Amino acid sequence: MADYDVIIVGSGPAGIFAALELSRKKGLKVLIVEKGADLPDRSRKDLFFGWGGAGAFSDGKLNLSAEVGGFLIDYMDEVSLKELIDYVDSLYLEFGAPKELKGIDMKETVRVEEAAARAGLRLVPFAIRHLGTDRCVGVLERIRAALEARGVHMRFRTEVRDIVVEGGRVRGVRTTDGAVFGSEFVILAPGRAGSHWLETVAGEIGLATATNPVDIGVRVEVPASVLRPVTDIMHEAKFTYNSRRFDDSVRTFCMNPYGVVVKERHEGFCTVNGHSFSVRKSENTNFAILVSTTFTEPFHQPIAYGRYIANLANLLGGGIIVQRLGDLLHGRRSTPDRIRRNTVKPTLTDATPGDLSFVIPYRYITDIIEMLCVLDRVTPGINATSTLLYGVEVKFYSMRLRIEPTMETEVANLFAAGDGAGVTRGIVQASVSGVVAAREILRRTHGRAT
Ligand SMILES: Cc1cc2nc3c(=O)[nH]c(=O)nc-3n(C[C@H](O)[C@H](O)[C@H](O)COP(=O)(O)OP(=O)(O)OC[C@H]3O[C@@H](n4cnc5c(N)ncnc54)[C@H](O)[C@@H]3O)c2cc1C
Repeated sequence: MADYDVIIVGSGPAGIFAALELSRKKGLKVLIVEKGADLPDRSRKDLFFGWGGAGAFSDGKLNLSAEVGGFLIDYMDEVSLKELIDYVDSLYLEFGAPKELKGIDMKETVRVEEAAARAGLRLVPFAIRHLGTDRCVGVLERIRAALEARGVHMRFRTEVRDIVVEGGRVRGVRTTDGAVFGSEFVILAPGRAGSHWLETVAGEIGLATATNPVDIGVRVEVPASVLRPVTDIMHEAKFTYNSRRFDDSVRTFCMNPYGVVVKERHEGFCTVNGHSFSVRKSENTNFAILVSTTFTEPFHQPIAYGRYIANLANLLGGGIIVQRLGDLLHGRRSTPDRIRRNTVKPTLTDATPGDLSFVIPYRYITDIIEMLCVLDRVTPGINATSTLLYGVEVKFYSMRLRIEPTMETEVANLFAAGDGAGVTRGIVQASVSGVVAAREILRRTHGRAT
């Protein structure tokens, strides 16, 4: 007899929402195993590990769209996905997310959509519920308390090393200190930071994987007033573009009105990202411009490629490089003096003024400059000398596990959900994937005495 009915590896949005859904059935023995710390013990410097996962100290933007934050549309029809997104949103509301929604003023949105189309861009309209980094923690605290009250077991600072499989069926997990926990079902939700581990485990137990794209680009920072014509209406505007020179897929990503640019630490290197707070405001707005590349045969190491470029930026800049757009276009580096005199003041103060053209391949630089030109036709002022570019921003989504629409892997009763499985890239879709896996387990255990 197994110790648990279900073991969930990882307490990010995917793991937490799987637990919430499973805990609706009384008597089901559920254990969450989390490598990082419990919420009160988490340090804000530790972005990726611990209760709440990478979402805990994130900007907490709930993107309520089937087109944003993941690839779940590849596993179900749009109506079903939208229903699941609404369901997850209702749970976030129940646990204290603010009622206000942005991006739903269709009349104003259509105006931006038309301006974008004239410039050769596509606006992806979607509603956003903005928690803000500070409020995100409160929501996570309440979910944690509810799960505890419903009898869900939790183990922190416990890292899963192996998945125990016998006869093509999962039997449990083994932790790095050698303890084995038996379980009938296992949901793997280790997030982006755990995707490397998941890839290794997948290889060991013979799960097939496919390569996802790698997204490389810069974080752009401009005065908040430049983007107000769109951020006042929809908080975050997502524009997509096919570049003229290379026909690459270029997009804006993670727009933070009145936000700050932050350094994102990975093992051995750092990249750039952005936040905004619900109360504390800066004078700037930041967002990323990312170029997506799916490598083809024989190359299949997009993570290594992204790391290499991030490392190059770190090597030249000792960390993050910042450059004024005007300097990039004039083929010169930004100096501390040019940054000091710049009208846009950097919110990431320890970035090194430098030259991104030594770091980012010509193809990406060309795409980024083209994108800034076309964006300027929708929100004039973006393509200015004073616009700040921070490099590099890299989004790793390397491998995607081969899974069923239920999120079950090729091993019976072993499920994989969230960013780690390569099927999502945002809080809402990660949460949805957890719910999907949990519902399948509930279906299979339905009517069974527990
Ligand atoms: C700075 C930042 C800002 C972001 N802002 C937003 C935003 O505004 N909106 C949005 O939609 N998304 C945002 N994201 C992305 C979002 O946080 C992720 O998409 C989401 O957290 C993915 O959820 P997940 O459950 O799949 O994984 P994660 O949240 O990464 O959680 C995975 C958990 O698994 C644990 N784990 C990993 N390996 C193991 C192991 N072997 N054993 C035990 N535990 C393990 C980790 O410690 C972690 O806690 C942001 C991300 C970052 C880093």
